[in-house]
Amino acid sequence: MGAIISRFAPAPTGFLHLGHVVNAAWVWQVTRQRGGRVLLRIEDHDRQRSQAHFEAAILEDLAWLGFAADEPPVRQSERGEIYEAALSRLRRLGLVYACGCSRAEIAQAGPKACTTTDKEANTPDVVQAFRPADAELRYPGTCAERGLAEAAGLGLRVRLAPTVERFVDLRQGLQEQRPSEQCGDLLARDRDGNWTYQFAATVDDLVQGITLVIRGDDLLASTGRQIQLARLLGRGEPPEFLHHPLIMKSPDQKLSKSDGDTGIRELRARGLPPAQVIEMAMAALPSE
Ligand SMILES: [Zn+2]
Repeated sequence: MGAIISRFAPAPTGFLHLGHVVNAAWVWQVTRQRGGRVLLRIEDHDRQRSQAHFEAAILEDLAWLGFAADEPPVRQSERGEIYEAALSRLRRLGLVYACGCSRAEIAQAGPKACTTTDKEANTPDVVQAFRPADAELRYPGTCAERGLAEAAGLGLRVRLAPTVERFVDLRQGLQEQRPSEQCGDLLARDRDGNWTYQFAATVDDLVQGITLVIRGDDLLASTGRQIQLARLLGRGEPPEFLHHPLIMKSPDQKLSKSDGDTGIRELRARGLPPAQVIEMAMAALPSE
C-alpha cells in the first residue's frame, strides 16, 4: 500500500459556502487519519465562468478555516498540454471523434438525464457544490460514425465500450455502473474549446497520483466512467472513492452560492470563528 494522496478541488465560479466546507472537512479528516497528503486543485477548466477573484477568495477562506494543503495549488487552466497529451493517447487508440451536437439537439434525440441510480434521480435537491450544475444528458452517439474532421466549434468525444464498472465506495459499499449505457460517449472538450470536468478531473487524478477521491454524493454516478476513462489512459489501479452526503435544500430555505446564510465570507463578517463554521456545515447535513 503506497502513500495516500487526496485532493480538494473547488471550481472558482463562486465563493466558498457551507457545501464546500462539508467536503473539505471530509477530505482533510479522512486523509489525515490515514496519514495521507491533501493536494489543492483549482478546477477552472470552464474559462467563461471561472474568475481569479473567486479563486483568491476561496484560498483565503480555506486558510482561515484551517484547511492547509501540502503543496501549492495547481490550476486546470494551466494544464492544457497535459490534457492534450491524454487526448492524443486516446486518439491513437481510435477512440476520439468530433461531435457537432448542441445541448438542444442531444435533448431532442432523447431527453434522458445522465444518472446511474434511482437514488440519485430522486434527489433533485442535492446542492451542486463542486461543479457547474448543468446536468449532463445521455449522448445517443449521433456523431460516432459521421467521421467529422476535428475543427474549432466542434466538441470531442471519447468512445466508451459497454463495460460494467464495479468499485467499492468506502462509505456506501459495492457499486455497479454501466457508463456507456448511462451517459453515452464522454465529452472531453466542448464546442467552446473547454476541457470538461469529467475529462480534466480524471486526467488530473491520474497524473497527480491521487489515490483517494473524497467528494459529494452528486458525483457518485460519474465514478464508473471516470474509472473506465482512467483505464483507457493507462491507469492500472483506480483510486479509492468515498462519496459523502451533501447539504440539502429545505422547503423554506434555499442553499446556494448566492445565499448569504451559507457563504463563508458572510459568516466570517458576522464574527463566527472557524470551528463554529465547520460545526455549522456538518450540522446542516441530513441525518443518516
Ligand atoms: Zn454529436
